[in-house]
Amino acid sequence: MSIASGDDINADDMTASLVAQIAADSPLSLARYIEIALSTASAGYYQSSDPFGQKGDFITAPEISGLFGEMCGLFLAHMFELGQTPEETASGHQKPAIIECGPGRGTLMADMRHVWEQLMPDLTACPVHLIETSPYLRTLQEQALPDAVIHWHDDLSALPAAPLYGIANEFFDALPVAHAICRTGIWRHRLVTATPALGFVEGKPLTDAELEMWRLDTNNSGPSQEGDDMATPLDGAIAESCALGEDIMRSLAAHIARFGGAILIIDYGKTDNRGDTVQAVAAHKPVDLFYQPGQADISHWVDFGALAACANAAGARLVGPVEQGSFLTQIGLKARAEQAAAHADPEMRRALLAAYDRLVSPAQMGSAFKVALLVPQGDGTPPGFVTHNAKTESSTRQDR
Ligand code: SAH
Repeated sequence: MSIASGDDINADDMTASLVAQIAADSPLSLARYIEIALSTASAGYYQSSDPFGQKGDFITAPEISGLFGEMCGLFLAHMFELGQTPEETASGHQKPAIIECGPGRGTLMADMRHVWEQLMPDLTACPVHLIETSPYLRTLQEQALPDAVIHWHDDLSALPAAPLYGIANEFFDALPVAHAICRTGIWRHRLVTATPALGFVEGKPLTDAELEMWRLDTNNSGPSQEGDDMATPLDGAIAESCALGEDIMRSLAAHIARFGGAILIIDYGKTDNRGDTVQAVAAHKPVDLFYQPGQADISHWVDFGALAACANAAGARLVGPVEQGSFLTQIGLKARAEQAAAHADPEMRRALLAAYDRLVSPAQMGSAFKVALLVPQGDGTPPGFVTHNAKTESSTRQDR
């Protein structure tokens, strides 16, 4: 039996179906396994349940505190203002649109719109385009955004011809990722098999085209000679590739390059594709990747280096990434949290300060989570994206 993403199967059947499918056909790519586990209708992880919050499997930043959405909303309002050059305003063309990729419960968009209502009503009036494949989460988003004009999309093929302002928080990490494994100097596909239990197996070597796509050394011809290139990967080294994430970034970037706008990309991540970063989590605890597919969240650390290369190739620019703690601090989260705490009762004050700490502290979300900004090509550093080196560079420039 083979499982299509639109199939309607019971959660208990998923492992048996996967095993049968692999036995009948061949091992699956890890990306296809993750796609089935997360997106198969009704049994897929995101399709019929609400995984967020204390009672769910994980908590995202917008679910920790409304402060997160407020700050992101303020930042985007500022980018919107900067984007409105006098010529553009005078030519009066193209009303912008708002976009969110993977809106979850809709909490982040509701918090951003709350800020816009007060400071930037023009943005509240813009249509909201939500990229969301889960029918169940779409119903929650509709409830969370009662006053918004919402257009839902399964993918990015029908975006409006307009500048886009928006956000993708913990979206790219949820997309299926594939693995390659290095054996005696040769990169091979790392696949999912059934023996009969689900597990990994090594497949064919990557072709030259695949090596290039994965940004791996195109010399896939076995172990290097003694004293050869230091960068030769160790036996068993793993590399990752998220083809869907790269496609989505290329579409967003082409759109931003053509029509303008600014999109925040926030996720746990790094700037390379080395190492096995795939994790499965259920009820806030790590579980085996192959334990009850469809019952656990499966995610990976986003490769911001790959996303930046896609943005560039499509004619746009990905600024950053910088650490979430640094970004939120630079755009004024501390002052906003203190201001809110000053008007709160003691219990609320404690909750606000705990949320602040959780969002910015390096031991919590502050370091692992990164923030990048997709904008049209150009230079200059937007607020929030100044790094220590950039500070030194600009002061050196002034000194000269
Ligand atoms: N941004 C939210 C939720 C993140 S969870 C928050 O911060 O709380 C990931 C979200 O992406 C969910 O809404 C999920 O249904 C959606 N999603 C996952 N894969 C998707 C895909 N291929 N296309 C569109 N949406 C997807």
